[in-house]
Amino acid sequence: MQGVLVLVILNGLYRQMKDIPEIEDLIKLISKLPGLGPKSARRIVLKLINNKQELHKPMVNSMASVFKNIARCKNCGALKSNLTKCNNCENVEKKFNRICVVETIADQWSIQNSGVFNGYFHILGGTISVSNNVSKQELLIESLEKRVREDNIEEVILATSATVEGQTTAFYIQNTLKDTNVKVSKLAQGLPVGGEIENLDDGTLIYAFKNRRGIDKNEG
Ligand SMILES: [Zn+2]
Repeated sequence: MQGVLVLVILNGLYRQMKDIPEIEDLIKLISKLPGLGPKSARRIVLKLINNKQELHKPMVNSMASVFKNIARCKNCGALKSNLTKCNNCENVEKKFNRICVVETIADQWSIQNSGVFNGYFHILGGTISVSNNVSKQELLIESLEKRVREDNIEEVILATSATVEGQTTAFYIQNTLKDTNVKVSKLAQGLPVGGEIENLDDGTLIYAFKNRRGIDKNEG
């Protein structure tokens, strides 16, 4: 009975919220975020309105700070704060001899969370794609070659998706690195065809990493 009452009150509140344009706008914006539909967005907005001091203001400040200070590192493509050095490529306490090349920051986070890889990341910022008009100049490939040559890198692991674009990009990078001494390897066939790194479960990702195979850089 109590549950029903709460639902009735909440529905009433939601109906009132719907009539207010400012709130409607915020609900629409929040429901564009991944994993959130209009219902969750309404609950979030209500929570924010009811917790101005504790949530609303700190969140606005925190978002402003992220937009002001966070950018992609020009060297490795990872997100970094403009106020500090890049935690991925400029961290003097962590020295690695391996670089894992991924398409997006979401891919980097997936691999990081799985715990399968300990080394530097290099985030390309997408894939070479004729259909989406993304050329190799738009991706962070030149700086990858520079890092390989200057940072004593012994292995480059290509962790691009098992899509046509992902494999085309991997092939192009493999070709770019052929005059260096670095070993290039590619994730194993555990990757489903068309599989995007970001969407793989940890088990598949770990299998693909552990069974990666070296590439003859002159092949193809
Ligand atoms: Zn960096």
